[in-house]
Amino acid sequence: MSVRIEGLTVGYGRSSVLRDLDLTISDGEILVVAGPSGCGKSTLLRAVAGLLPIVSGQVLVDGVPVRGTSRDRALVFQDDGLLPWRSALRNVELPLALQGVSKVERRERARGWLDRVGLAAFERYLPRELSGGMRQRVQLARTLAQGPRLVLMDEPFGALDARTRGAMQELVVEVLRETGTTTIFVTHDVDEAVLLGDRVVVLGAGEVDVRREAILAAVQG
Ligand code: ADP
Ligand code: MG
Repeated sequence: MSVRIEGLTVGYGRSSVLRDLDLTISDGEILVVAGPSGCGKSTLLRAVAGLLPIVSGQVLVDGVPVRGTSRDRALVFQDDGLLPWRSALRNVELPLALQGVSKVERRERARGWLDRVGLAAFERYLPRELSGGMRQRVQLARTLAQGPRLVLMDEPFGALDARTRGAMQELVVEVLRETGTTTIFVTHDVDEAVLLGDRVVVLGAGEVDVRREAILAAVQG
């Protein structure tokens, strides 16, 4: 799925957070959007997800203007959003059930994705019985099981310790490449941006080289 953002202005009430932003993401690409806290990264993802009214400009997904949310576009947050009373397996199955996927098929898909993220042995565990990194893997499985064509990740690993974060970054890149999923990955962490991005855009400074020094310089203005 390709995304073309043209002259986008969005905000809350009368204050605009992003003004006249242009950005393109090609099909299958992982674009990292970096920038300090409060610069509008989450706002950008909300606009692409179709959760915010656009003041001016447009967001085109495969050439079609975004007017609301769609199953094709999935948001992933720092908070895993798992239901505490449902097992890992049943959490992954839930959105599939809501989509009307048959019982047999959703079980098979959920198991396949739990296996892919290394949690086959934990399908019966409740979220509170899993570590933070494992819960993020369940969230990833739940998201990808729905077959989104565009994944919008909003600092998903911000709450994880450094080692777990490293393992998740590797897994995410592997799985996104394998599935050819177009991704916008938002982070304020420069090292994460270097590691994950095909391209890196710093909000307010435009596209920068995927090198640590270049990103740091742009983020610090
Ligand atoms: P980032 O994700 O880069 O930290 P955000 O997109 O969350 O930044 O926020 C950008 C700006 O918009 C901030 O000044 C923030 O205070 C403001 N903002 C974010 N969400 C809301 C909201 N729901 N209502 C009003 N202002 C908001
Ligand atoms: Mg944010």
